[in-house]
Amino acid sequence: MKLSITNFIDKVRSIYKEDFVPLHRPILKGNEKKYLQDCIDSNFVSSAGEMIIDFEKMIASYTKSKYAVSTSNGTSALHISLLLSGVEENTEVITQALTFVATGNAISYCNAKPIFLDVDKSTMGLCPQALSKFLHENTYSRENSLFNKSTDRRISACVPMHTFGHPCQIEEIYNICKEFNLPLVEDAAESLGSFYKGNHTGKYGLISAISFNGNKVITTGGGGMIVTDDEELAKKAKHITTTAKIPHQYEYIHDEIGYNYRMPNLNAALGIAQFENLKKFLEKKRKISEEYASFFDSFDDVKFFKEPESAFSNYWLNAIILNDSNEKNKFLKVTNEANIMTRPIWKLLSSLDMFVDCETDELVNSRWLEKRVINIPSSVPND
Ligand SMILES: *Cc1c(COP(=O)(O)O)cnc(C)c1O
Repeated sequence: MKLSITNFIDKVRSIYKEDFVPLHRPILKGNEKKYLQDCIDSNFVSSAGEMIIDFEKMIASYTKSKYAVSTSNGTSALHISLLLSGVEENTEVITQALTFVATGNAISYCNAKPIFLDVDKSTMGLCPQALSKFLHENTYSRENSLFNKSTDRRISACVPMHTFGHPCQIEEIYNICKEFNLPLVEDAAESLGSFYKGNHTGKYGLISAISFNGNKVITTGGGGMIVTDDEELAKKAKHITTTAKIPHQYEYIHDEIGYNYRMPNLNAALGIAQFENLKKFLEKKRKISEEYASFFDSFDDVKFFKEPESAFSNYWLNAIILNDSNEKNKFLKVTNEANIMTRPIWKLLSSLDMFVDCETDELVNSRWLEKRVINIPSSVPND
C-alpha cells in the first residue's frame, strides 16, 4: 500500500491532542517550579550554586562517567571537549557530513578544519568502514601523530555523532581510532538515554558532549555537559569553562584564556527536575516509536527508522525514510500546512557555504539519506 498522508495526520492527531504539534517540546510538569522557586529563595540564580553540583553528579552517575562538567550549552561543551583533546589551529577533525551545524561550528571555533565522511544507512551516524578506509588510504603517522597525506596537516580528533539519538557503531569507531592513535570525541548532544552494548553514548570518547537545549530529551532551557573518565581533563574542563580563575580568597588571578561557559544554577534546577522524569520520558518515547513503527509497517513506500543493532535508542527524534525522494516536498508541505511539524534531515554540512571547501569522501549514503529522511513529531505526549 502507498503511504497516505491523511492517515499519517490522523495518526499524529491520535497521539498528540494539540492544535499545533511541534517536533519536540519539553514537558515541565514535575518539580521544575519548586526547584526554580528554591533557587530564587536561596538567591543563587547565577553561575554558582548547589544545584549545578547536584546536576553534574546525576549526569555522571547516569552515564557512568567518572566526571561531568556543566556548560552553557551543548555547542560550548563540544568546543571545550575538542580543545582539551588537542584540537588546535590548522589541524583537521574528522566528522560526519550528516549532522547538525553545531558539530562543524565547534570544530571551526578551534580554528580547525572538518573532514566530512559518510554515514551508515543503518545508524545515520559515522560509518566505521568509511573512517577506516579514509585513515588507511589518506593518512600517515609521524611521531605518534596522524597527518593527512594531501594537506600535511595533523588530524587531531574524530567526532562521530549519534543521529536523532540512535547510537552509531561507536565501539567499532573506538577501535579504529585507537589503532590510529586518534583522539575520539563523541557528539552525544542528542543521545542522553541512548546506549551501545550497554554503555551510555559518550562513554567511548576520551571526552564527550551532551546538550540540554529546549528540544532535546530533557532540557535546562539551554545547557550542556562534558563527560569524561579522565580526572585531568575534567579538572581542565571545569577550569577553562569558568574563566580559568585560580581559587583565591579575594584576588583575581586567571592563568590562561578562559571561557564563560558556565551553566547558571537556575538552569541546573530545571535540569534536576527534568532528570527526575528521564526514565518516564524514555519509556513514553519508546511507546510512541512503537506506535509509529506499526503504523508505517503497512506501507511499502516508506520505512520507519528503528534503533540499530546492539543499541538502545532514546528515540529522540523519530524519522522516516521515503522510497521516492520526489515525495519528500509534498509530505513536508501537506503536514506542515496541517499544523503538524515535520522537517527534512539537515543539509549535508559539506554543502553549506562555510564548509564547501572541506575534504569529503564520496558521501554515497549521506546523499541518499539527505534526499529521503523526514523527522516527525516526537515529544512525550501531554497526559
Ligand atoms: C543540539 C545539538 C548540539 C548543540 O547543542 P546546543 O545545546 O543547542 O548548543 C550539537 N550537536 C548536535 C548534533 C545537536 O543536535
